[in-house]
Amino acid sequence: MKVMKFGGTSVGKPERMHQVAQLITKGNEPVITVLSALSGTTNALVEISSHLAEGNKEEARACIQKLEAHYQAFILSLLRQPNFLDKAKAIVAEHFEFLNIITRISFSDALNKDILAQGELMSTRLFSVYLEEQGIDHVLLPALEFMRIDANEEPNLPAIRTKLAALLQQHTDKKLFITQGYICKNARGEVDNLKRGGSDYTASLIAAAVNAGVCEIWTDIDGMHNNDPRVVNKTIAIEQLSFDEAAELAYFGAKILHPTCIWPAQQQNVPVKLLNTMEPSAKGTTIMHEAGSVGVKAIAAKDGIIAIKIRSSRMLLAYGFLRKVFEVFEKYKTSIDMITTSEVAVSVTIDQPTFLDEIIRELEPFGVVEIDKEQTIISIVGNQIAETKEVLKKLFDAIHDIPVRMVSYGGSRHNISLLVPSAYKKETLQLLNKGLFGLE
Ligand code: ADP
Ligand code: ASP
Ligand code: MG
Repeated sequence: MKVMKFGGTSVGKPERMHQVAQLITKGNEPVITVLSALSGTTNALVEISSHLAEGNKEEARACIQKLEAHYQAFILSLLRQPNFLDKAKAIVAEHFEFLNIITRISFSDALNKDILAQGELMSTRLFSVYLEEQGIDHVLLPALEFMRIDANEEPNLPAIRTKLAALLQQHTDKKLFITQGYICKNARGEVDNLKRGGSDYTASLIAAAVNAGVCEIWTDIDGMHNNDPRVVNKTIAIEQLSFDEAAELAYFGAKILHPTCIWPAQQQNVPVKLLNTMEPSAKGTTIMHEAGSVGVKAIAAKDGIIAIKIRSSRMLLAYGFLRKVFEVFEKYKTSIDMITTSEVAVSVTIDQPTFLDEIIRELEPFGVVEIDKEQTIISIVGNQIAETKEVLKKLFDAIHDIPVRMVSYGGSRHNISLLVPSAYKKETLQLLNKGLFGLE
């Protein structure tokens, strides 16, 4: 079994969907195809939801109308035969009727999740109609019947495995399965999702659940690049990464992968391939157990970071001090990304501001609390990086003019993290691209 996931841009135009159909029918191996919503759709659904949350029903209706027009035009180029086009029109009408009905009832978090699910539900149903028109035998597997998260919003892999196996068991004669990325059901049995970009996570969870031979993530770029191509001009694709390296890059901002999507594949040792739908013959990146080489592989940046410093000359070295600090973050379910300590202060970073005021209030009895917002974590990721000759020298030479707020190395052997004010992110990424990779 092989898993093939196609992101928003890979299904965002009718001709791309046609190409996806070709890619998934090439080999003889059974395939589970995971589709995202058409590009732009989830953003539009988020916008609709926030208008409704604010009580702006007219704005919400205008967004719904615009999105519906997009889908009506999309299916006209997707399909040729009138009976299949009628089928697709009925699907589009059904989903937009649902969205229009929702504007009339009172808004809730559960409703918000229902709205966000419409993108993947539509993309897969429309793709299925296209496959039918082409006479391609397949089964549409509803993700809501097997993708589960628990009360802590973490994927429940054993439940996913059991439910998916039972569904596949009903179709032992079939070789092609289509399912939705991103969407799932939560512990309360409501529709939920795996957070933005979550279709990658779906693919990796499915790959782990069925113990697939490979999990292919098809997107709009030829693999993981050495630096953020949205910020830096000259970047190059990386051939091979270890699971740990890929997980660090994803977590620290390489948008090509959902932040936590690597662990399921890693747990089952399923190789992950990052491939380009627009250039299917390009080599891409293979993520596997072995790192392949030592030294720096790539740099990623994660914005929206808040640094919290607690200064306390009296208590810092006291037994149990750090535990008390960590308990405050635990109480507010806020995870810490970076941590550095000195004799008089401890600094940590968080990316979740929801309970910042409460956290500050509870930390204040321990010492003087200082907050720096709008910070960016720059992560330099590779295999045994600090042991690799010259890396630290090149790194610090490259950024000698940048006001670095924190430095962290040693948590893993794959990552050196720097915290810089977000205003310096672009410059830092460019300087490191030159200093560490010789690319300008
Ligand atoms: P999809 O819709 O297929 O899930 P995404 O937009 O989520 O695609 O991810 C692909 C994008 O990730 C690329 O177009 C690129 O701009 C961005 N990206 C950010 N950092 C990296 C990186 N280090 N390597 C490759 N792409 C990256
Ligand atoms: N459609 C969802 C999003 O845009 C999930 C995904 O594309 O991975 O976040
Ligand atoms: Mg994505």
